[in-house]
Amino acid sequence: MSLAEAAKRVAAEFEYPAVEVNRGVKEFLKEMEEGLEKDGTSLSQIPTYVTAVPDGTEKGLYMAVDLGGTNFRVCSIRLHGNSTFSLTQSKIPIPQSLMTAPAAHDLFAFLAQQIGLFLEEHHGEHYEGVRSCKSASGAPGYKNEEIFNLGFTFSFPVQQSGINRGTLIRWTKGFDIPDAIGKDVCKLLQDEIDALHLPVRVAALVNDTVGTLMARSYTAPGKTTTLLGSIFGTGTNGAYVERLDAVKKLVAKKDTSGYDPSTGLMIVNTEWGSFDNALTVLPDTPYDRALDAGSVNPGIQMFEKRVSGMFLGEILRRALVAMIADPEVALFASAHSGTNELSSTTSIYKGSKLLETWGVGSDFLSVCQTDDSAGHGSIRQTLVNQYGLHAPSAGDAAAVKTVAAAVGRRAARLAAVAIAGVVLKSGRLEGTDEIDVGVDGSLVEFYPGFVEEIRAALDEVEGVGEEGERRIRIGIAKDGSGVGAALIALVAGRLG
Ligand code: ADP
Repeated sequence: MSLAEAAKRVAAEFEYPAVEVNRGVKEFLKEMEEGLEKDGTSLSQIPTYVTAVPDGTEKGLYMAVDLGGTNFRVCSIRLHGNSTFSLTQSKIPIPQSLMTAPAAHDLFAFLAQQIGLFLEEHHGEHYEGVRSCKSASGAPGYKNEEIFNLGFTFSFPVQQSGINRGTLIRWTKGFDIPDAIGKDVCKLLQDEIDALHLPVRVAALVNDTVGTLMARSYTAPGKTTTLLGSIFGTGTNGAYVERLDAVKKLVAKKDTSGYDPSTGLMIVNTEWGSFDNALTVLPDTPYDRALDAGSVNPGIQMFEKRVSGMFLGEILRRALVAMIADPEVALFASAHSGTNELSSTTSIYKGSKLLETWGVGSDFLSVCQTDDSAGHGSIRQTLVNQYGLHAPSAGDAAAVKTVAAAVGRRAARLAAVAIAGVVLKSGRLEGTDEIDVGVDGSLVEFYPGFVEEIRAALDEVEGVGEEGERRIRIGIAKDGSGVGAALIALVAGRLG
């Protein structure tokens, strides 16, 4: 068998035909319903307490902060009311010592201090005016309109119970302050803001995917509001506009103290990365199974493990290693006088990242997709410079490209399952307006053809079809944790 044939055979393992896409969509719709009814289902369908989406006419000055990992970002956002905004921001590295501080106070006092410094630097007039006030957050001493409503993007697991209420479940990403667990992170921040007498009200606790939806809805052309905000970056997730009465598990609680029910809407965070963890409809190859078995969370986030940036390079790597190990295929063997001995210590692959788990990033898929030249020069160059291979042939590079394209294409078609599920669930295809979908993340931004592949798969979905697909507008939504968070603060501020 020629190398090209072998590559086609492996690529075929990643085929995800229309009939499978349609099975996927049916299951997605079922899991969406289940998630709205009760907790503990495959799709979490978390109510976010955000009950409106902007249409681009909103105006005002808002703040947003983002605590996600290594940096703390503070922004002020001026919404101009015509779908545009201006943003001022500062990014402050979080001192290592504060990530594992003895008390929550230490970290949150630092965050409040940074907010104060930001106000002093960028909003001096605003800041000075209220400097002498005794307390913020609605207490007497200054006018309501002088207070900044702030959206707080806090990318750690929280149990949210209201638009600006949520208790920390656990720390991740190297943070460890046991004292904060079980506490309301909005209150922790507000208390420290108040201690500094800053004119800032923590108006909303923000999920980054909801921020993406809001940012897109504000910036999208025209006055139509956006249905879905989705992320295809390191991970994948989507948040969409649901009818409040359809969120049965929330309505059943009969407690509307944490949100404004008057709009009849509720933004739902699907957490679709965990779609079909039971693998009833998701495609599954030996490479997917091995990746999952070697991951930190086997059996979990099965959709994400086939779709998002963190995993696509590793799927490809495993497929390529199988091709190297197969004596009948002998990928890269010609460059090494016919040998394809597979050992990271003794062979020609010594030191190659190709033999290291997680050694290949999904940016390599973009390199493969981009290089259409006859000799595949940039693929070969990347294989040499980045992955430590010696003189791969044009045939090797072509084989790698074939397999990489198949992995990327399957990911995009799976993304279409989630998007089609939300679009069908919304009932908006029954109308005549455009259906707006916001997307963010490196895959949609940098992987050539990702959105086109999504569209081609949407075409094949029963109930969407060519006509429906044409009405779906997919656009990039940037900066969910900046302008998106500000817009959530705006919506929340109407409550406060
Ligand atoms: P995050 O989701 O963490 O906010 P990104 O949207 O930038 O950040 O996504 C990062 C992920 O995207 C990483 O898994 C990385 O491997 C992948 N990635 C980065 N650049 C590219 C690219 N050019 N093509 C495809 N994937 C990429």
